[in-house]
Amino acid sequence: MPTPEPTFPCVECGGVCHLLTAAPEHDAWEAGDIVAYRCADCRERFDLVLADDPD
Ligand SMILES: [Zn+2]
Repeated sequence: MPTPEPTFPCVECGGVCHLLTAAPEHDAWEAGDIVAYRCADCRERFDLVLADDPD
């Protein structure tokens, strides 16, 4: 089951983007879920689509 990273490097400023979206019950993330991140430094928001876990 895919799991979003809690943080990732901001592509705009190199700061740290933090996961905004709350985990679903039982951490039951699914491929295709939209997860939102916000950069702590520039406040840019990023929406990512969860990809299937290669494992
Ligand atoms: Zn940023």
